[in-house]
Amino acid sequence: MTVPAVSFEFFPPKNLEASFRLWDTVQVLSPLMPRFVSVTYGAGGTTRELTRDAVGTLHKNTGLNVAAHLTCVNATRDETMQIVEGFAKAGVTDIVALRGDPPKGEGQFTPTPGGFANSVELIEALSATGQFTLRVGAYPEKHPEAADSDADIAWLKRKIDAGAAEALTQFFFEPETFLRFRDRCAKAGIEAPIVPGILPIENWPGLRRFAQACGTAIPAWLDDAFDKAIRDGRQDLLATALCTEMCDTLLSEGVEKLHFYTLNKPELTRDVCHALGVTPRAKLEKVA
Ligand code: FAD
Repeated sequence: MTVPAVSFEFFPPKNLEASFRLWDTVQVLSPLMPRFVSVTYGAGGTTRELTRDAVGTLHKNTGLNVAAHLTCVNATRDETMQIVEGFAKAGVTDIVALRGDPPKGEGQFTPTPGGFANSVELIEALSATGQFTLRVGAYPEKHPEAADSDADIAWLKRKIDAGAAEALTQFFFEPETFLRFRDRCAKAGIEAPIVPGILPIENWPGLRRFAQACGTAIPAWLDDAFDKAIRDGRQDLLATALCTEMCDTLLSEGVEKLHFYTLNKPELTRDVCHALGVTPRAKLEKVA
């Protein structure tokens, strides 16, 4: 079986305790030599400085390739490009470019006056700098705002054509969901890699609510399995086994890269990676 290339997503810490937790997570996962690690950008642009500081600190102290997430929400073009300059100064060469969700309470995304109207405009502007490897979001079960999945895939193609090198998907619970989507993207002429977003299930009741809000299908068998596992106190065991099995199926279907949503907790991601053959690799200079 192919040993996958992995990447890990974190969110920026909001206080000292959370900073230590992120640092511990990075210590556990960085020996797995990820392709890159990424740091999210708070909804509504709320973590602008925190994201910049987190990407800078991670880059400086770990030498890992760090990607900053960036959205169009709540900022003019000039403000957004200033944030981008800050990322570049911090040593960032990779950006996950997103439109972003509307601020809480607003049902629909409304561009800020003078701001990017959509993700394609943002990607075009970032691409024109020639400074960054760009990645974008993709939605195997269709974005809730898309008219239908064909329209959603057509929009993804526009994002790739605007300069994105790769797409990272929303999480999903069954491998077929991703594989069907990958086939449809290929049929639509998308040649850039589509990398599955993998979310190990840390807290089923909480994730279930989140999945419902995102429009992610929740298979009945998963509910049953977690009901029993929660009763028996073996959720982590079930989560690791299910996630490993799903990744294993994806790899057997030719998937080569996996993007893990770590939620700043390393254990499940580490255990799944180990089970897939992604094991700690000492840097040669440290061994010699
Ligand atoms: P887009 O793909 O640009 O738009 C979403 C959908 O709406 C499209 O798929 C398309 O169907 C439709 N659409 C939008 N505009 C048009 C148009 N002009 N014409 C036709 N169709 C259109 N959010 C954050 O706030 N911070 C983060 O750090 C963050 N990280 C993420 C990482 C990943 C890997 C993913 C998958 C999502 C992330 N999100 C993040 C969530 C994301 O911001 C939301 O899902 C948001 O609603 C859509 O952003 P997008 O860039 O994917 O949107």
